[in-house]
Amino acid sequence: MLVRFWGTRGSLPTAMRSGEVRDKLIAALQAANGRHFQSAADVASFVDNELDFPIRSTYGGASSCVELDGTSDEFLVCDMGSGLREFGLDAMRRSRVGRKKTYNIFMSHLHWDHIMGFPFFVPAFDPDVTIRIFGGHDTIERALRRQQEKISFPVPFDYLKARFEFTTLVPGEVADVAGCRVELIRQHHDNDSYGYRFFCNGKSVVYSTDAEHKLGDQESMQRFVEFFRNADLVIMDTMYSFADAMSMKADWGHSSNVVAVDLCHRASARRLVMFHHEPIFGDNTIRKMHLDTIRYEELMRRESALEVLCAYDGLEVPL
Ligand SMILES: [Zn+2]
Ligand SMILES: [Zn+2]
Repeated sequence: MLVRFWGTRGSLPTAMRSGEVRDKLIAALQAANGRHFQSAADVASFVDNELDFPIRSTYGGASSCVELDGTSDEFLVCDMGSGLREFGLDAMRRSRVGRKKTYNIFMSHLHWDHIMGFPFFVPAFDPDVTIRIFGGHDTIERALRRQQEKISFPVPFDYLKARFEFTTLVPGEVADVAGCRVELIRQHHDNDSYGYRFFCNGKSVVYSTDAEHKLGDQESMQRFVEFFRNADLVIMDTMYSFADAMSMKADWGHSSNVVAVDLCHRASARRLVMFHHEPIFGDNTIRKMHLDTIRYEELMRRESALEVLCAYDGLEVPL
């Protein structure tokens, strides 16, 4: 199984501005000063191995969309943020070489950054496609139809040709979808959100975004520790630093890098992916947060290590 990140930004898609590209070029050329390269392959090796991530790359700016690839011959996706557009195009290419045209999509919630990719999801125009949408909210279809009302979008929902099925899931119950056992948990967020735990091919992946954790509420924290228990990979909203989450951004419905590490440690999870990046953060800020989080994990580690990854658009994590 491969966990593929198509969109990793929180709240609002972002694009790199020209000044940031320039800063990266200046830093890269400075690092290459005095070096002599024989070939393009030499340059590629220098870029890949010697430049730090924020210089050679970017965390990207599409909003939430994560694929679990290889669980069955059907597609399995979490959320329909703006990253869904790119996923849809890639999935159609894979469908042409034998992949079944069935999409199983799990919704954390219906805030705009998690549904805005849907009007641009090209497979929805294919009459041979089946799209099954699952979530804890019973208002998913309404939210998608409303997004495509004439006042907001030129193509109405009824123009789509795919076959749709909407399923409301209940926390505590187990669903079997696309080769995975799926459970969900209700999370603290405006109008609620849901986290998912997928158990597929002997591995477990938790997708928990847009969730605030109140440190004083031990009962709730313990519920999440059990939900994360022994997960191979936890994808978690780490939008804020701990200081922000505790002070001016308390009650904004998101969690911090520190809470994510604490929950994963208590649950003996193996890997954490920092996700749903704050849109005002540039690449250097996100990189610093990633390094701070790795350091915090090392300081707080009791038994086995938790590997801390930082999501970017295009990241693929094999399991
Ligand atoms: Zn969000
Ligand atoms: Zn939200």
